[in-house]
Amino acid sequence: MSATKEIDAPVHEPRSNDTEELARQILEKMTYSIGKHPDQARKYDWLRATTLVVRDRIIDRWFASGNRIEETGGKEVCYLSMEFLIGRLLRDAINNLQLTQPITEALAKYGVELDMVELLEPDAALGNGGLGRLAACFMESMASTGVPGYGYGIRYVHGFFRQEISEGAQVELPETWLVHGNPWEFERRDASYEIGFGGTVNTIHETGRPPRQVWRPGERVMAVAFDTPMVGWRGEQINTLRLWSAQAVDPILLDAFNQGDHIGALVESNKAEAITRVLYPADSHQAGQELRLRQEYFFSSASLQDMIKRHVRRHGTVETLADKVAVQLNDTHPAVSIAELMRLLVDIHGVPWARAWEITRATCGYTNHTLLPEALEHWPIHLFERLLPRQMQIIYTINAEVIRHAAQEKGFEGFEISAISLIDEGNGRRVRMGQLAFVGSHAVNGVSALHTDLMKETVFHSLHKLYPDRIQNKTNGVAPRRWLMECNPELTELITDAIGPGFLDDIDKIRAIDKLANDAAFVEKFGAVKRTKKAQLAHLISERMALQVDPDAIFDIQVKRIHEYKRQLLNIIEAVALYDQIRSHPERNWTPRVKIFAGKAAPSYAQAKEIIHLANDVARLINSDPVVRDLLKVVFIPNYNVSLAEIIMPAADLSEQISTAGLEASGTGNMKFALNGALTIGTLDGANVEMKDHIGDDNIFIFGLTAPEVAERRAQTHSGRSIIEETPILREALHAISSGLFSPEEPARYHGLISNLYNNDWWMICADFQAYWDMQRHLDDLYRRPKEWQAKAVHNTARMSWFSSDRSIREYAKDIWQAGPGAV
Ligand SMILES: *Cc1c(COP(=O)(O)O)cnc(C)c1O
Repeated sequence: MSATKEIDAPVHEPRSNDTEELARQILEKMTYSIGKHPDQARKYDWLRATTLVVRDRIIDRWFASGNRIEETGGKEVCYLSMEFLIGRLLRDAINNLQLTQPITEALAKYGVELDMVELLEPDAALGNGGLGRLAACFMESMASTGVPGYGYGIRYVHGFFRQEISEGAQVELPETWLVHGNPWEFERRDASYEIGFGGTVNTIHETGRPPRQVWRPGERVMAVAFDTPMVGWRGEQINTLRLWSAQAVDPILLDAFNQGDHIGALVESNKAEAITRVLYPADSHQAGQELRLRQEYFFSSASLQDMIKRHVRRHGTVETLADKVAVQLNDTHPAVSIAELMRLLVDIHGVPWARAWEITRATCGYTNHTLLPEALEHWPIHLFERLLPRQMQIIYTINAEVIRHAAQEKGFEGFEISAISLIDEGNGRRVRMGQLAFVGSHAVNGVSALHTDLMKETVFHSLHKLYPDRIQNKTNGVAPRRWLMECNPELTELITDAIGPGFLDDIDKIRAIDKLANDAAFVEKFGAVKRTKKAQLAHLISERMALQVDPDAIFDIQVKRIHEYKRQLLNIIEAVALYDQIRSHPERNWTPRVKIFAGKAAPSYAQAKEIIHLANDVARLINSDPVVRDLLKVVFIPNYNVSLAEIIMPAADLSEQISTAGLEASGTGNMKFALNGALTIGTLDGANVEMKDHIGDDNIFIFGLTAPEVAERRAQTHSGRSIIEETPILREALHAISSGLFSPEEPARYHGLISNLYNNDWWMICADFQAYWDMQRHLDDLYRRPKEWQAKAVHNTARMSWFSSDRSIREYAKDIWQAGPGAV
């Protein structure tokens, strides 16, 4: 209920950022919000008290951002994403509010270190990898570039699993980020919506009106909103991340309980809550289970109902929806939104079908993230129909119209009709979510230039022919606040000293350090920062793994999801080959190297788990061999997540971006590394292609087959056998692995992995091996000329600003959303 009397919004003065005042408020929170005497406070209590003090400062600004959009009536972006891999928030908020120094000093008064406190915050891992992290960088960049909007997703109770390595193999443990509560979120009971599943659809005939469809769901659950503020740079704009949690409409069946059926009384509530209990731990693979489709529909419907309710409250009609709201679908996970928006407009708001279709298309945009066939979502018709009967009808109607249009306007027939159809008739009839998202959106984008071109040629070839203006490119980016300023304060300070602080507000100004690549003193300092960051990572490795690595060796790092297409196996085989060479010729002048891996495999992805096992087996033997001493070490750091990435990225000399060409949509790890001055060894894949254009051919190390060459080989019958036989270094390395040298307790452990290379080599590991090996030896030589190496590193940092997610967001805002500061 709203207040009966007009209340002036926040009555207090803006809160002071003075050290004394911050210290006083931290103490007050400790006492009155946490209920502890400072003498009894544990480290975790200091984290909480600090978070609450920072949060107060966010809330005033959050209201102001909300009021601005109410007053100006500007357009809002709703970014729908199944995943937000946000990581920790405290450092990000403190940095963006410019509070690092005063908070550090305030805590110091109590003998508490801010850095230590920040490490206690759980890492919010509501995502698998790149796609979820992109959504998180985009939320920060939307706030930082002044694009108002909401992120919409799912409040999973258990995020991405925690990985341990036991006897070399991955073990998955549940992740529990919410056990201590979450001070960043606000539960909004007033923003809750009913979500239906199943049931029946009836046609209602009323005289003088067209027939209406009425869906009576067989099952209902509640979606309840939890809001987290997303703080932009300098706190000038605060957006909202709204995550939905599922709850039963009736939390307990009292009848059943009273009759003594205590379990049965909770069945409904358990079933409802299951929807938002766990994140599916698979990327690049379609989950294909009913619960997953429930999750997708649940959060799509809740987000659309919320968005429409807000719009109607402000503007009184759904007619103007597309002028005031832009919906972006992050991959096909929210693609059911197209059918659901049509249902809400037609069935609930009484908009005629044709007009509803115009509004839907004008409102929605779709971002494609993968061309891998195993990742393209499609749902069996019988499942879809049972769970979402009305949405299924709507999809049939849309499909009929698209096909009619294609046949009449473009003369499509036969093969091309089946290519554009929303229904795949080939595999037991399935709904194709990519096709649905495509036809229901006014803009469809890929995430790098190469990926966008391949989209036009492959998955959406026929739809592109039908709607030639719809596909566009929006190359990914990363947030420079998190991925430079916060994770690398040492480098930030060096750059600030050299060119002033202007690049903090406009990352393109970082280009001014490019000419300093010729300044010996600057290059030396740049190298010294890198050395510091490497020592920090070496310390972490020593603490966590009881393994000593030398910070003067090349830190050669591959961290990302473990997947065959990302080719960690190529990197491991190169390590084995190098090990073999060092053992055969220990007297040669080898460049010391530490090969570092981290990443999780989907629990059901057997090959990926074998690759993790192999990396650990190889590490065990090499690290204990006195002959190679410090010339080669192999490290697999468990439990890769955002917080670990923040330590790893600044510490890399060499960034491994070696996917089979044509398969990595963009990559963003590649960008984080290069921004922090790592040189890239990589294939012409994803955003590497554009990085090469920006950084310059001399400052990036490209090898291997191109995407068209891979396609050509795959069309022929390519196998690794002849290559292996002609390449002694490769042959020896594979022989060592398959002979059981690294797995004496189970000599045949890797027979399957190796025989795939001989018989098939689908991922072109053998095909690219020699080129990769040669480039690595070239880099060994370069590393022996540290001035030259570091000068190239400076060029990397100087020339990476285009890969800021601020640039990506400005492009989306201008070309797809027509929202934000530039929009009229
Ligand atoms: C950036 C990032 C990714 C994406 O890495 P790619 O190399 O682009 O696959 C995955 N996980 C985490 C934790 C990240 O920070």
